[in-house]
Amino acid sequence: MFTASCLCEGIQLRLLAPLNPIYICHCKQCQKAQGAAFAAITQVEIKDMQVVKGENLLQSYFATPNKKRVFCKQCGSPVYSARLDKPDVVRLRAGLINESVDVNVVSHAYVNSKAFWHVIGDQAPQYPEALPSIN
Ligand SMILES: [Zn+2]
Ligand SMILES: [Zn+2]
Repeated sequence: MFTASCLCEGIQLRLLAPLNPIYICHCKQCQKAQGAAFAAITQVEIKDMQVVKGENLLQSYFATPNKKRVFCKQCGSPVYSARLDKPDVVRLRAGLINESVDVNVVSHAYVNSKAFWHVIGDQAPQYPEALPSIN
């Protein structure tokens, strides 16, 4: 059982299923949204994610019409993104998970726009643009 929370701990989530592997997204939007070199994402089925606390703190921002980026309106932590045409899943930001994560990075997407100063240090496959399976 995994739990996740934002920086201020106002938002607390409970994950009811084993973790999916981690996808790294190096697109420019994710860089800006995280304030970092990339977003680390684990996909979670909506039915397997319980908002224990802080539903009222979840704020959405649409950088592109089909995808909302949800963050904590109190502390600013990115929480998840969700595509409107895929209402059954969210892409949880893996850094929010409180326990030590037992899954590895399985892919890097949008490597063409990777931050110059970041060096990818694992052997997972790299894709120049979108990842076919998750995007
Ligand atoms: Zn917060
Ligand atoms: Zn991205």
